[in-house]
Amino acid sequence: MKASTAVERAASPRAGGTKSDGSKVPTAPLGSPGTRSSTSPNGNSAHEVPAVASTHFIRSRIGKICVAITGPTPADMMRNAEEIVRENHFVEFRLDYLPTPAAIIPKLKQFLYERGEVTAIATCRRASTGGKFKGNIGAELEVLEKAATAGCHLVDIELQTAEHTKPVQMKKLRAHGAALIISYHDFESTKDLDAIFDRILPYQPEFVKIVSTAKTLADNVTMMRFLDRRRDEANLIGISMGEQGIISRVLGLRAGSVFTFAAAHAGEETGPGQIEARTLRETWRIDHIDASTKVYGVAGNPVRHSLSPLMHNIAFRRETVNGVFLPLQTTRINDLLTLVREVPLHGLAITMPFKTDIIKHLAKTDALSEKIGACNTVVRAQDGKLYGFNTDVAAVIRPLERRLPLRNAKILVLGAGGAGRAAVFGLVEKGAEVFIWNRTAETAKKLARQAKAKTIRREQIVKSNFDVIINTTPVGMKGVKPASILEPKELNTRLVFDLVYNPIDTPLIRMAREKGLPVITGVEMFVHQGARQFEIWTGKPAPEEEMLRVVIHALRQESAKQQP
Ligand code: NAP
Repeated sequence: MKASTAVERAASPRAGGTKSDGSKVPTAPLGSPGTRSSTSPNGNSAHEVPAVASTHFIRSRIGKICVAITGPTPADMMRNAEEIVRENHFVEFRLDYLPTPAAIIPKLKQFLYERGEVTAIATCRRASTGGKFKGNIGAELEVLEKAATAGCHLVDIELQTAEHTKPVQMKKLRAHGAALIISYHDFESTKDLDAIFDRILPYQPEFVKIVSTAKTLADNVTMMRFLDRRRDEANLIGISMGEQGIISRVLGLRAGSVFTFAAAHAGEETGPGQIEARTLRETWRIDHIDASTKVYGVAGNPVRHSLSPLMHNIAFRRETVNGVFLPLQTTRINDLLTLVREVPLHGLAITMPFKTDIIKHLAKTDALSEKIGACNTVVRAQDGKLYGFNTDVAAVIRPLERRLPLRNAKILVLGAGGAGRAAVFGLVEKGAEVFIWNRTAETAKKLARQAKAKTIRREQIVKSNFDVIINTTPVGMKGVKPASILEPKELNTRLVFDLVYNPIDTPLIRMAREKGLPVITGVEMFVHQGARQFEIWTGKPAPEEEMLRVVIHALRQESAKQQP
């Protein structure tokens, strides 16, 4: 008996279902294969191309996210699939992750038969092209043919595979009715995208997938311009991998990528920089991004673990702001500026190491940021120009003002970096008597001169009494050796404020609590500075309680994961 094609299978009553975005999946094929007039490099002329699932039909079934499914054994992979398809109906089976990919076929067939709402890609990428499959091209094609027979709607082969596949083999692969994706992966750079596209196009695949590696933020611009330029010539999927390429995974969709790939869970990424499906959908609201979505981001190095994207995306969702907030990882300010100009970005949270350098690139900065020499917030105004603000100052001052009058309060500031400067200038302006201790005494002296504060030597701290002690150094931060910046006998104060927010309970905070002292944690400051940023960008009151809730939840989850 002839094996049914993906179109025939999809046309069966069981094919009806619900798309990942909630809309109905068609229960009948919506079209026949596209007309093909040219001859492919492998000699497949128009009349030889077999009936495959039409791209229109496939595009009508899938959402914007394809979730990659992996697993060390067929049973594990199918278990993962069962879980993933509860929320995502478009999946990629990475068969190359299995030691013997063909072993999963009977289970896969049963699974796809029972779940007509699922659209599945089968991929068995060879090790030489970045996958895990140890077999040769013939073995790869054999696995994919079986997957197509089992009901996979699409099969993915690399361009290198296509270029070494005989016409008869290609015809055999396509005879089972699955649509073809021809993909190309560059694990080093983002270049020659048009040339690669032109190499793929003659094979007439239903989908063209080009994956590069972003080494700069500007590489995302290159990828998105390419997508925009060639989107009308094919069903195109374009992504840049790596930390710097995250933007392309989100904004590539509106530039022309038909869909993007996501990881099933954190830690199960099949490509560098891949984001968890739930985060893409629920936090970044990828399904809602359109041409009018305003783009914001946190810029610096490192920003991988920054909680700003979580906090701001949730705030956007809560206040129905059509915006998305992305991590912008870069070491070069000019790279950042290219992205800001080209996307264009509407707002930036600036973190290390750009808080000072950014100022000279802005049209104007508020007086306080200029005095401090640090700006942590940039907004694009209606005139298109970039303006700078510093919300760190208010975020140090406000939590303190809620607890004690600052005029004439005696305050010790530990550290004289960016955050230290914000604290010292803000406190002096409020009339506090500020003492600065810094590891590098010269920096403390310079800041004290500029801000009209005093310095203090380390040995004097133990003999002094303060109203507040503020830590503005990274000592106590996750990843830094667990230590407190001060010893218990040096904590002669009425209140302790640690700017470090990850972990919430730093060694200094714990020590203060043990001495029965009230504390302010860095989380309160973090959320406060973020809330003011939100207001500057959107002109709306920030949902501060919700922002605090998600940040605390994320930090607690992170610390629970680290517990043995
Ligand atoms: P920064 O500009 O690099 O300044 C770091 C300061 O800490 C410098 O004064 C440095 O002294 C001192 N320092 C660094 N390592 C030290 C060590 N091992 N022992 C003693 N002193 C040390 O950094 P920043 O931007 O001010 O950030 C500092 C901390 O504040 C970070 O942990 C950051 O996460 C936190 N922060 C929190 C928030 C919030 O919202 N909660 C906002 C901003 C910053 P030297 O001059 O001797 O190098």
